[in-house]
Amino acid sequence: MTLPMTVPAPGLPTRVRIHEVGPRDGLQNEKALVPAAIKAEFIHRLAEAGLTTIEATSFVHPEWVPQLADAEELMRLIDDVDARLPVLVPNERGLDRALALGAREIAVFASATESFAKANLNRTVDGALEMFEPVVAKAEDAGVAVRGYLSMCFGDPWEGPVPISQTVSVSRRLLDMGCDEISLGDTIGVATPGHVRELLATLNEAGVMNDRLAVHFHDTYGQALANTLAALEHGVTTVDASAGGLGGCPYAKSATGNLATEDLVWMLDGLGIETGVDIGRLTATSVWMARHLGRPSPSRTVRALSQKEI
Ligand code: MG
Repeated sequence: MTLPMTVPAPGLPTRVRIHEVGPRDGLQNEKALVPAAIKAEFIHRLAEAGLTTIEATSFVHPEWVPQLADAEELMRLIDDVDARLPVLVPNERGLDRALALGAREIAVFASATESFAKANLNRTVDGALEMFEPVVAKAEDAGVAVRGYLSMCFGDPWEGPVPISQTVSVSRRLLDMGCDEISLGDTIGVATPGHVRELLATLNEAGVMNDRLAVHFHDTYGQALANTLAALEHGVTTVDASAGGLGGCPYAKSATGNLATEDLVWMLDGLGIETGVDIGRLTATSVWMARHLGRPSPSRTVRALSQKEI
Protein backbone atom coordinates (compact mmCIF):
# COMPACT_ATOMS: atom_id res chain seq x y z
CA MET A 1 0.00 0.00 0.00
CA THR A 2 1.18 3.54 -0.76
CA LEU A 3 2.09 5.50 2.36
CA PRO A 4 3.44 9.04 2.70
CA MET A 5 7.13 9.52 3.37
CA THR A 6 7.57 10.65 6.96
CA VAL A 7 9.14 14.08 7.19
CA PRO A 8 8.53 15.83 10.54
CA ALA A 9 7.99 19.60 10.63
CA PRO A 10 8.95 21.87 13.52
CA GLY A 11 6.50 23.26 16.04
CA LEU A 12 4.01 20.41 15.96
CA PRO A 13 2.82 17.99 18.66
CA THR A 14 4.35 14.50 18.67
CA ARG A 15 0.99 12.83 19.26
CA VAL A 16 -2.60 13.65 18.33
CA ARG A 17 -5.77 12.08 19.69
CA ILE A 18 -8.37 11.62 17.01
CA HIS A 19 -11.96 11.89 18.21
CA GLU A 20 -13.75 9.69 15.67
CA VAL A 21 -17.26 10.96 14.96
CA GLY A 22 -18.25 8.73 12.02
CA PRO A 23 -20.77 6.47 13.78
CA ARG A 24 -22.61 9.48 15.28
CA ASP A 25 -22.03 12.76 13.41
CA GLY A 26 -21.36 10.83 10.20
CA LEU A 27 -24.24 8.38 10.13
CA GLN A 28 -26.76 10.87 11.50
CA ASN A 29 -26.17 12.96 8.38
CA GLU A 30 -26.38 10.05 5.93
CA LYS A 31 -29.62 9.34 4.14
CA ALA A 32 -29.42 5.58 4.57
CA LEU A 33 -30.56 3.87 7.76
CA VAL A 34 -27.81 1.47 8.85
CA PRO A 35 -28.81 -1.58 10.94
CA ALA A 36 -27.48 -1.68 14.52
CA ALA A 37 -25.45 -4.82 13.80
CA ILE A 38 -23.57 -3.03 10.99
CA LYS A 39 -22.99 0.00 13.21
CA ALA A 40 -21.63 -2.29 15.92
CA GLU A 41 -19.29 -3.97 13.47
CA PHE A 42 -18.23 -0.52 12.22
CA ILE A 43 -17.33 0.59 15.75
CA HIS A 44 -15.47 -2.65 16.47
CA ARG A 45 -13.50 -2.23 13.25
CA LEU A 46 -12.68 1.41 14.03
CA ALA A 47 -11.31 0.37 17.42
CA GLU A 48 -9.29 -2.43 15.80
CA ALA A 49 -7.86 0.16 13.38
CA GLY A 50 -6.47 1.97 16.43
CA LEU A 51 -9.00 4.72 17.12
CA THR A 52 -9.18 5.27 20.88
CA THR A 53 -12.18 7.63 21.05
CA ILE A 54 -15.21 6.71 18.99
CA GLU A 55 -18.40 8.73 19.40
CA ALA A 56 -20.91 5.91 19.22
CA THR A 57 -24.42 7.31 19.01
CA SER A 58 -26.89 9.89 20.24
CA PHE A 59 -29.67 9.83 22.81
CA VAL A 60 -31.71 12.59 21.21
CA HIS A 61 -35.36 11.74 20.59
CA PRO A 62 -35.60 9.09 17.84
CA GLU A 63 -38.03 11.32 15.92
CA TRP A 64 -35.36 13.99 15.55
CA VAL A 65 -32.65 11.64 14.34
CA PRO A 66 -34.16 8.40 13.03
CA GLN A 67 -30.70 7.27 11.84
CA LEU A 68 -29.67 6.83 15.49
CA ALA A 69 -32.97 5.61 16.95
CA ASP A 70 -31.32 2.27 17.83
CA ALA A 71 -28.99 3.75 20.48
CA GLU A 72 -30.13 1.32 23.21
CA GLU A 73 -29.64 -1.74 21.03
CA LEU A 74 -26.30 -0.49 19.75
CA MET A 75 -24.89 0.21 23.22
CA ARG A 76 -25.44 -3.43 24.16
CA LEU A 77 -23.64 -4.59 21.02
CA ILE A 78 -20.52 -2.51 21.70
CA ASP A 79 -20.00 -2.97 25.43
CA ASP A 80 -16.88 -5.05 24.71
CA VAL A 81 -15.19 -2.39 22.55
CA ASP A 82 -11.80 -1.32 23.88
CA ALA A 83 -12.11 2.44 23.32
CA ARG A 84 -13.68 5.52 24.84
CA LEU A 85 -17.26 5.60 23.53
CA PRO A 86 -18.85 8.99 24.16
CA VAL A 87 -22.52 9.50 23.31
CA LEU A 88 -24.46 12.66 22.56
CA VAL A 89 -27.22 13.64 24.99
CA PRO A 90 -29.65 16.56 24.56
CA ASN A 91 -31.19 16.73 28.03
CA GLU A 92 -31.55 15.01 31.40
CA ARG A 93 -33.77 12.28 30.01
CA GLY A 94 -31.16 11.46 27.37
CA LEU A 95 -28.48 11.43 30.06
CA ASP A 96 -30.48 9.02 32.22
CA ARG A 97 -30.93 6.65 29.26
CA ALA A 98 -27.20 6.83 28.46
CA LEU A 99 -26.13 6.29 32.08
CA ALA A 100 -28.47 3.31 32.42
CA LEU A 101 -26.63 1.71 29.51
CA GLY A 102 -23.22 2.30 31.04
CA ALA A 103 -22.07 5.39 29.11
CA ARG A 104 -18.87 6.76 30.65
CA GLU A 105 -18.59 9.87 28.50
CA ILE A 106 -21.20 12.19 27.09
CA ALA A 107 -21.38 15.22 24.85
CA VAL A 108 -23.79 18.14 24.84
CA PHE A 109 -24.23 20.43 21.84
CA ALA A 110 -24.39 24.19 22.13
CA SER A 111 -24.34 26.92 19.52
CA ALA A 112 -22.23 30.06 19.26
CA THR A 113 -25.04 31.81 17.39
CA GLU A 114 -28.67 32.62 18.17
CA SER A 115 -29.90 31.54 14.71
CA PHE A 116 -28.48 28.04 14.96
CA ALA A 117 -29.54 27.63 18.61
CA LYS A 118 -33.06 28.44 17.42
CA ALA A 119 -32.88 26.14 14.36
CA ASN A 120 -31.20 23.18 16.06
CA LEU A 121 -32.51 23.39 19.61
CA ASN A 122 -35.47 25.77 19.36
CA ARG A 123 -33.88 27.80 22.13
CA THR A 124 -31.81 30.92 22.64
CA VAL A 125 -28.06 30.48 23.27
CA ASP A 126 -28.73 31.20 26.95
CA GLY A 127 -31.74 28.88 27.00
CA ALA A 128 -29.67 26.02 25.58
CA LEU A 129 -26.92 26.56 28.14
CA GLU A 130 -29.52 26.57 30.92
CA MET A 131 -30.88 23.29 29.59
CA PHE A 132 -27.41 21.71 29.66
CA GLU A 133 -26.44 22.95 33.11
CA PRO A 134 -28.24 20.22 35.11
CA VAL A 135 -27.14 17.61 32.55
CA VAL A 136 -23.48 18.51 32.98
CA ALA A 137 -23.83 18.68 36.78
CA LYS A 138 -25.49 15.26 36.94
CA ALA A 139 -22.87 13.75 34.61
CA GLU A 140 -20.11 15.18 36.80
CA ASP A 141 -21.75 13.63 39.88
CA ALA A 142 -21.80 10.28 38.07
CA GLY A 143 -18.08 10.63 37.25
CA VAL A 144 -18.85 10.87 33.54
CA ALA A 145 -16.67 13.08 31.34
CA VAL A 146 -18.47 15.80 29.37
CA ARG A 147 -17.56 17.24 26.00
CA GLY A 148 -19.25 20.42 24.90
CA TYR A 149 -19.77 20.74 21.18
CA LEU A 150 -19.93 24.32 20.02
CA SER A 151 -21.44 24.77 16.57
CA MET A 152 -20.98 27.74 14.20
CA CYS A 153 -17.73 28.91 15.81
CA PHE A 154 -16.55 30.65 12.65
CA GLY A 155 -19.56 31.37 10.48
CA ASP A 156 -23.29 30.86 10.47
CA PRO A 157 -25.54 30.38 7.41
CA TRP A 158 -28.02 33.02 8.61
CA GLU A 159 -25.74 35.44 10.44
CA GLY A 160 -22.55 35.29 8.34
CA PRO A 161 -19.16 35.65 10.07
CA VAL A 162 -19.31 35.00 13.82
CA PRO A 163 -17.42 37.47 16.04
CA ILE A 164 -14.52 35.76 17.82
CA SER A 165 -15.62 37.31 21.13
CA GLN A 166 -18.99 35.57 20.80
CA THR A 167 -17.43 32.10 20.31
CA VAL A 168 -15.01 32.74 23.17
CA SER A 169 -17.78 33.79 25.52
CA VAL A 170 -19.92 30.68 24.94
CA SER A 171 -16.81 28.43 25.18
CA ARG A 172 -15.94 29.99 28.51
CA ARG A 173 -19.46 29.37 29.77
CA LEU A 174 -19.37 25.71 28.72
CA LEU A 175 -16.11 25.24 30.63
CA ASP A 176 -17.43 27.11 33.67
CA MET A 177 -20.49 24.88 33.62
CA GLY A 178 -18.20 21.87 34.03
CA CYS A 179 -17.47 20.64 30.51
CA ASP A 180 -14.11 18.89 30.38
CA GLU A 181 -13.49 19.63 26.73
CA ILE A 182 -14.85 22.01 24.09
CA SER A 183 -15.02 20.92 20.47
CA LEU A 184 -14.90 24.01 18.26
CA GLY A 185 -17.13 23.28 15.29
CA ASP A 186 -16.77 24.93 11.91
CA THR A 187 -20.19 23.60 11.03
CA ILE A 188 -20.43 25.18 7.57
CA GLY A 189 -16.74 24.86 6.77
CA VAL A 190 -15.98 28.55 6.22
CA ALA A 191 -12.96 28.89 8.53
CA THR A 192 -9.49 29.66 7.18
CA PRO A 193 -6.15 29.20 9.02
CA GLY A 194 -5.66 32.80 10.18
CA HIS A 195 -9.15 32.81 11.66
CA VAL A 196 -8.39 29.53 13.45
CA ARG A 197 -5.18 30.95 14.95
CA GLU A 198 -6.92 34.14 16.06
CA LEU A 199 -9.79 32.26 17.73
CA LEU A 200 -7.41 29.87 19.53
CA ALA A 201 -5.17 32.72 20.72
CA THR A 202 -8.19 34.66 22.01
CA LEU A 203 -9.53 31.56 23.76
CA ASN A 204 -6.16 31.07 25.47
CA GLU A 205 -6.20 34.72 26.61
CA ALA A 206 -9.64 34.07 28.12
CA GLY A 207 -8.22 31.12 30.06
CA VAL A 208 -9.53 28.40 27.75
CA MET A 209 -6.32 26.47 27.24
CA ASN A 210 -5.32 24.09 24.46
CA ASP A 211 -5.60 20.95 26.60
CA ARG A 212 -9.33 21.62 26.94
CA LEU A 213 -9.87 22.21 23.24
CA ALA A 214 -10.62 20.05 20.22
CA VAL A 215 -11.18 21.21 16.66
CA HIS A 216 -13.99 19.99 14.41
CA PHE A 217 -13.49 21.13 10.85
CA HIS A 218 -15.65 20.57 7.82
CA ASP A 219 -14.16 20.37 4.36
CA THR A 220 -16.98 22.19 2.57
CA TYR A 221 -14.54 24.70 1.03
CA GLY A 222 -11.47 22.42 1.07
CA GLN A 223 -9.98 24.08 4.18
CA ALA A 224 -10.28 21.34 6.79
CA LEU A 225 -6.67 20.09 6.69
CA ALA A 226 -5.17 23.59 6.39
CA ASN A 227 -7.22 24.61 9.42
CA THR A 228 -6.20 21.45 11.28
CA LEU A 229 -2.53 22.17 10.65
CA ALA A 230 -3.00 25.73 11.95
CA ALA A 231 -4.60 24.32 15.12
CA LEU A 232 -1.78 21.79 15.60
CA GLU A 233 0.82 24.54 15.18
CA HIS A 234 -1.03 26.46 17.85
CA GLY A 235 -0.76 23.47 20.21
CA VAL A 236 -4.16 21.78 20.00
CA THR A 237 -3.78 17.98 20.11
CA THR A 238 -7.35 16.67 19.80
CA VAL A 239 -8.89 16.60 16.33
CA ASP A 240 -12.38 15.41 15.33
CA ALA A 241 -12.74 13.45 12.11
CA SER A 242 -15.20 11.09 10.46
CA ALA A 243 -14.09 7.77 8.97
CA GLY A 244 -14.43 7.83 5.19
CA GLY A 245 -15.77 11.40 5.43
CA LEU A 246 -19.15 10.03 6.52
CA GLY A 247 -21.80 12.70 6.79
CA GLY A 248 -20.05 14.67 4.13
CA CYS A 249 -21.18 12.86 1.04
CA PRO A 250 -20.84 15.23 -1.92
CA TYR A 251 -23.65 13.36 -3.68
CA ALA A 252 -26.20 14.00 -0.95
CA LYS A 253 -28.15 17.18 -0.37
CA SER A 254 -27.34 16.93 3.33
CA ALA A 255 -23.61 17.21 2.57
CA THR A 256 -21.89 18.71 5.56
CA GLY A 257 -18.30 17.86 4.69
CA ASN A 258 -16.86 16.25 7.81
CA LEU A 259 -13.07 15.99 7.61
CA ALA A 260 -12.30 12.38 6.67
CA THR A 261 -10.24 10.51 9.25
CA GLU A 262 -8.13 8.91 6.51
CA ASP A 263 -7.23 12.32 5.02
CA LEU A 264 -6.22 13.46 8.51
CA VAL A 265 -4.19 10.32 9.26
CA TRP A 266 -2.40 10.58 5.91
CA MET A 267 -1.19 14.08 6.82
CA LEU A 268 -0.29 13.13 10.40
CA ASP A 269 1.57 10.00 9.24
CA GLY A 270 3.54 12.13 6.79
CA LEU A 271 4.42 14.56 9.57
CA GLY A 272 5.51 11.70 11.84
CA ILE A 273 2.78 12.56 14.37
CA GLU A 274 1.58 9.51 16.27
CA THR A 275 -2.11 8.64 16.26
CA GLY A 276 -2.05 4.88 16.79
CA VAL A 277 -4.24 4.47 13.72
CA ASP A 278 -3.49 1.92 11.00
CA ILE A 279 -4.52 3.74 7.81
CA GLY A 280 -4.85 0.51 5.83
CA ARG A 281 -7.29 -1.06 8.27
CA LEU A 282 -9.19 2.18 8.57
CA THR A 283 -9.48 2.56 4.80
CA ALA A 284 -10.69 -1.02 4.44
CA THR A 285 -13.36 -0.24 7.05
CA SER A 286 -14.53 2.85 5.18
CA VAL A 287 -14.65 0.95 1.88
CA TRP A 288 -16.77 -1.70 3.61
CA MET A 289 -19.10 0.97 5.06
CA ALA A 290 -19.37 2.75 1.70
CA ARG A 291 -20.66 -0.50 0.21
CA HIS A 292 -23.34 -0.65 2.90
CA LEU A 293 -24.33 2.93 2.11
CA GLY A 294 -24.34 2.19 -1.59
CA ARG A 295 -22.00 4.97 -2.66
CA PRO A 296 -18.27 5.68 -2.71
CA SER A 297 -16.50 7.39 0.18
CA PRO A 298 -15.96 11.13 -0.38
CA SER A 299 -12.52 10.84 1.28
CA ARG A 300 -9.70 11.55 -1.19
CA THR A 301 -7.37 9.25 0.71
CA VAL A 302 -9.89 6.40 0.80
CA ARG A 303 -10.44 6.78 -2.92
CA ALA A 304 -6.71 6.95 -3.69
CA LEU A 305 -5.79 3.98 -1.51
CA SER A 306 -8.64 1.77 -2.70
CA GLN A 307 -9.03 2.79 -6.34
CA LYS A 308 -9.06 -0.78 -7.51
CA GLU A 309 -11.72 -1.82 -5.03
CA ILE A 310 -14.27 0.93 -5.57
MG1 MG B 1 -19.39 17.45 11.85
